[in-house]
Amino acid sequence: MMQMFARPAALATLVAAALLAACGKNPGVGGAAGDATAATVKANEEMAQALKLDDPQDFEDAKKGLIARPEGKIMSADGSTVLIDFDAYKFVDGKAPPTVNPSLWRHAVLNAQIGLFKVTDGIWQVRGFDIANMTLIEGKTGLIVVDPLTARESAAAALAFARKHLGDKPVSAIVFTHSHADHFGGALGIVSAQEAAERKIPIIASEGFMEEATSENILVGTAMARRSMYQFGKNLEKSAKGNVDTGLGKNVAYGAVGVLVPTQLVTQQTEELTIDGVRFVFHNVPGAEAPAELTFAIPDKKAYGGAENLAQTMHNLLPVRGAKVRDALQWSVYLQEAIDQIGDAEVYFGQHNWPVWGNARIVEFITKHRDVYKYTHDQTVRLINAGLTPREIADTIKLPPSLASYFGARGYYGDLRHNVKAVYQFYIGAYDGNPANLNPLPPQESAKRYLELIGGPDKAVAAAQGAYDNGDYRWAAELLNHAVFGAPDNKAAKELLARTYDQMGYQAEAATWRNSYLTAAAELRDGPPKKGIDRSFLIDMLHQTPIARFLEAMAAGLDGPAADGKNLKVNLVLTDINESYVLWIENGVLHHKKAAPAADANATLTLTKPIFIKMMAGTAGVKDTLMSDELKVDGSMIDLVRFFTLIDKAPGTFAIVTK
Ligand SMILES: [Zn+2]
Repeated sequence: MMQMFARPAALATLVAAALLAACGKNPGVGGAAGDATAATVKANEEMAQALKLDDPQDFEDAKKGLIARPEGKIMSADGSTVLIDFDAYKFVDGKAPPTVNPSLWRHAVLNAQIGLFKVTDGIWQVRGFDIANMTLIEGKTGLIVVDPLTARESAAAALAFARKHLGDKPVSAIVFTHSHADHFGGALGIVSAQEAAERKIPIIASEGFMEEATSENILVGTAMARRSMYQFGKNLEKSAKGNVDTGLGKNVAYGAVGVLVPTQLVTQQTEELTIDGVRFVFHNVPGAEAPAELTFAIPDKKAYGGAENLAQTMHNLLPVRGAKVRDALQWSVYLQEAIDQIGDAEVYFGQHNWPVWGNARIVEFITKHRDVYKYTHDQTVRLINAGLTPREIADTIKLPPSLASYFGARGYYGDLRHNVKAVYQFYIGAYDGNPANLNPLPPQESAKRYLELIGGPDKAVAAAQGAYDNGDYRWAAELLNHAVFGAPDNKAAKELLARTYDQMGYQAEAATWRNSYLTAAAELRDGPPKKGIDRSFLIDMLHQTPIARFLEAMAAGLDGPAADGKNLKVNLVLTDINESYVLWIENGVLHHKKAAPAADANATLTLTKPIFIKMMAGTAGVKDTLMSDELKVDGSMIDLVRFFTLIDKAPGTFAIVTK
């Protein structure tokens, strides 16, 4: 699903206070989420009538093999935060309330089936301890763990829960299916690095896993973390007017993220490995759902693990939180290959949602997914060549009934309208070719002028109220977005826009869209968050991140205008890993090269990698760190402080729906 967000360029705590002071100037207009309007009730009823929501098959599958359901909560290691509350979604049961799209509600009820499940003889899954599943496979000497969740805490809890029912077996191997943190981040919760090394536990991943896992999105981690609050509805209350699901599972455990270095890489397209006595046939599937990913068959158990190329939902070609665009065509090619790879498998299991049993049903499942991506791809390309632009394509394409009627590939996480824009962007970029959009005014500027033309914000709000009363929420949102941006102090505009987003959220079938609309409404009422996502929990993972990635991120945090003409040079000497780098500013750009310390540097900073990472991850202030005896400064301390002061610290609380 998600990539985790590191924001290592958290260096300049020296300037952080000033930046933080600039935040929180939009207190919001207060109020609570509204009830479903008649238009929303009608839209949701129509959807309920159009779909066979009571089809029992998925419910049987989601409940099949339940051994035990957990109770209570998973707490953060320091006991201060509830990471997962197993009762939080108990309200997701029975008939859909009017404030939730009934198709999404059905999916949310299915994802609410949590616990330890037997998948087939010798294969179990723990579901609901995090957004992903932990799969356990019985080996000759212990348990082979596939994907130890996002966080140390949730992984430890999941494994302990499984052991209570399966016996106290040791971890005999670990498989990481792909490079997204919800599939490896809890590794240190199931076995320590020391134990893994001492017991020589095989840790299997695909080629490129480590680079992608530790580096993906470090550069834009701040923005992604901020936008992921929308996608996952992190700050929403869990209720019929709030967060009911994420599409891939219930919710993310925001605990301590780490990783273990793989001991064995799958490098061939298809590769057979026997792990703790179990024969796996791995398939490398990079560059579709994740840059490094593998799927596998366990022929002797007639089982097939589809990692995340397959889940019980249409996936994202481009997450709403933002990411590099994914390749829809390649994805469909992998799924065609998967149909051949499953052989006589009688059970399919993925690392999200619930399994599928029966060979014919597995083939149908994979075929529908293959064709959802290929249809999306091919029809978007057809319309691109016919001259349609992204918004026009999104409003034109519908899946054919043969695909749309299949629940397992409907848009609960990804959304067709967003995915066609991803295909457009993948091939020809976000620009639609119309020069009116080559150099348009920024949103706030055009909003001000639209408002002038309309005759002021009150006129815009009145027009939007008319659209709202007619259930025309897309138009109401467009008008009101102009009003809020052009007249940020207009309370009525914010209030009505919040109420409009409520309805758009209540009607959305994709959990990611619902969460986005409802988070937008909440921020119009309460303002943007006061705190960004604390990234100190990534420390364990950052220890595995190459220094060069931090230095790239540091360069991308340089305040270019302020740095121009300040040609400082700093040596960075990391004693524990025997690496040294020369960092220098030239033309408002921060460069680095791996080299011996330069004689003409303004200063030399000598420290260890762990201390450097503490500085980068923001758990220690630069000033404090520079003064501490954990490091040594030679040359000019003043220049060193000047250097680090030029590196921006973005708090990750920026406004999105307000100005
Ligand atoms: Zn995932």
